[in-house]
Amino acid sequence: MGGGDMSYVGRMYFRLYLPAGLALAGGAIGAAALKAVQPAPGGLGTLSLYSNLPAWAFAAGIALALAIAGVQTVRLRLWDRGAIPGCYVCGCLLAPPRAARHGLGMARRCLGCGKLHGVNHYRLMPRLVPLPVAVKGAADAVRSVRSSP
Ligand SMILES: [Zn+2]
Repeated sequence: MGGGDMSYVGRMYFRLYLPAGLALAGGAIGAAALKAVQPAPGGLGTLSLYSNLPAWAFAAGIALALAIAGVQTVRLRLWDRGAIPGCYVCGCLLAPPRAARHGLGMARRCLGCGKLHGVNHYRLMPRLVPLPVAVKGAADAVRSVRSSP
């Protein structure tokens, strides 16, 4: 798998890394808000000033963004190697399963073209895809046993 329409792949990358960008922005906004309350008298302002909360909020945003980006990069690599089944329309990665709107059980939205895929179909995919590979591997093993002295 892998490849597919370039515009869909671009959209997939954007949707994969968007949460990391939002985490970074959230950390920055949180840091700015905590910085803003520092001059204010009272609990939060004092706490923010003396335990340097803005820096912690910013660092937490960066750490969360890195964690999300790391997970998405692993998913992308597995997808690129064909370990994760993709959309059968455009070949892109699918979002985590969610309850479908019309009571059809769980479905996964394609990150590229946006098509909804029933989860039941994709439970079968990993078993169906490697079958020709397994048969070919067995045939090669038999051939190598026969040709060996
Ligand atoms: Zn798709």
